[in-house]
Amino acid sequence: MALIVSGIGVSKGIAIGNVHLLNRGAPEVFERKLEDHEIDAEVERFQDAVDGAAKQLSGIRESIPEDAPKDVATFIDSHLLMAKDSMLSKVPIEIIREQQCNAEWALKQQRDKLEAVFEEMEDDYLRTRLNDIEHVINLIQQILKDQQFTMQMKLQPLKGSIIVADDLTPADTVVMQNQNIAGFITELGGPLSHTAILARSLGIPAVVGIQSARSLLQQDEPLILDGSSGMVLAGTNENTVKEYRQIQREQKEAQRKLSSLKNISAKTKDGQRISLQANIELAEDVGALKKSGADGVGLYRTEFLYIDREVPADEAEQLSAYKKIIRVLKGKPLTIRTLDLGGDKEFDPDFQGPLTQNPALGLRAIRRSLKDTELFKQQLRAILRSSASGPVRILLPMITSDNELVQSLSLIEQAKHELKSENKDFDENIPVGAMIEVPAAAISAHIFAKQLNFLSIGTNDLIQYTLAIDRIDDQVNYLYDPLHPAVLKLINITLQAGRRAEIPVAMCGEMAGDPRYTRLLLGLGLKEFSAHPSNLLEIKQIINKSKITELEKQTKKILATTVPSKIIPMVDALNA
Ligand code: PEP
Ligand code: MG
Repeated sequence: MALIVSGIGVSKGIAIGNVHLLNRGAPEVFERKLEDHEIDAEVERFQDAVDGAAKQLSGIRESIPEDAPKDVATFIDSHLLMAKDSMLSKVPIEIIREQQCNAEWALKQQRDKLEAVFEEMEDDYLRTRLNDIEHVINLIQQILKDQQFTMQMKLQPLKGSIIVADDLTPADTVVMQNQNIAGFITELGGPLSHTAILARSLGIPAVVGIQSARSLLQQDEPLILDGSSGMVLAGTNENTVKEYRQIQREQKEAQRKLSSLKNISAKTKDGQRISLQANIELAEDVGALKKSGADGVGLYRTEFLYIDREVPADEAEQLSAYKKIIRVLKGKPLTIRTLDLGGDKEFDPDFQGPLTQNPALGLRAIRRSLKDTELFKQQLRAILRSSASGPVRILLPMITSDNELVQSLSLIEQAKHELKSENKDFDENIPVGAMIEVPAAAISAHIFAKQLNFLSIGTNDLIQYTLAIDRIDDQVNYLYDPLHPAVLKLINITLQAGRRAEIPVAMCGEMAGDPRYTRLLLGLGLKEFSAHPSNLLEIKQIINKSKITELEKQTKKILATTVPSKIIPMVDALNA
């Protein structure tokens, strides 16, 4: 009988293969008090296990195929760094000595401490980094227990199997990719886990978050997995398998066609050139950026130069990070968004004082930068200096009032003045733009447009603030609606303001990267889309098949519709 289970699809593609069950989680920890004379030997046993883990990870690092995306190595390197970090390599030794407990127990205590710290964090991305630390701790625990899982996996014939495990590490993913597995399912993990990110980079179809997958599915049974919808089918008949093989072929063909668009420009059938730019935030995104054929970077989120690390990047480190991307872009523009710190993305625990009740409405983005002008100016100097190496634009986040804009522009002038007196090069005419992310900004877009070189609509926040929905609160996610008539009106007002002032208006929120909205946005007059590099080719394909003049009439009708439920079928008709 057929069994359908669903989880979170984190890496698209259809996989058809037989189940290979794996037990990957934390080994059970045996707790024992040591005699005085046993302590030194136990410390040595622990050190050997840590060295063993580092050696194993280095071995995997070397086995990464040359053509694998760069982020594969980056993730393994980050695990190597964690294995060598004192929080894992030294603190457990102190615990062994102070509490006279065995190595496994000491490591478990350190794990519990780290877990408590991470669980307090509000930022989803940072919280998922606990998952990486756990992977490294489990590896050390397995070596202590002499269960070298990843190495054992290397010896098993896994080609064409669908791996079903409680959890997998990035290192496992690399070993499995070398073995040509068809796909994987895990009980734990989410879309932001490094294993999920790696699966996407390596093109392995994957579904995560199917609790008790290992009891629901049996060793060697045939399985179909859909990495887009997160659906897993077991016990299917020949016909269903045939059907999915056909879908698999069609998807591969569609993917092949999409890659052929890489070197073609985005241009509508009525001849309008559309700029397709990329959103990037981590060093890992540069690989995807190169493959995407993007016309530039429309949004570089610089927060990760400040958070998720021990010390924020100083002017020199920022300059070097920006120059690295400028080199990749070879003359195409780089739009650097100044810090969007604050709210749930703060690196300085002392900065805000007591936790605010509504972080999204608090001292965030430009408000935070204008409160710490030294920090802000340091970034402006780095951005300005990078503009001597290639075309760079400055993008100011969450500008809400004219006063904020005037202050920011004055700080940019001050930074220019300083650099001039230090004889440092920069682009005197560097374009400056603002993100339109709050309703007040959209309504004031005509005022901002007069003082700026471009605008960029951040729909993620614009929708959050217009509809009063916390974008990271699961309970109200269902209300998050890019097609709400109020949101569409604000987008339209902003586009009109740009046209009147004759400055470009881009869109860099998730809406710009969602193919369901491409034709609607073209009809509204959007000419600059900025989205994650992996979405750009699909958007380009739609643009190249569209005629703006045909979309405009229908789009006007959508704008005039005030009942949200009527808008979805109208947009569907536009896409048909
Ligand atoms: C946005 O708000 O749409 C945006 C692009 O900024 P972020 O997602 O970084 O807040
Ligand atoms: Mg935003």
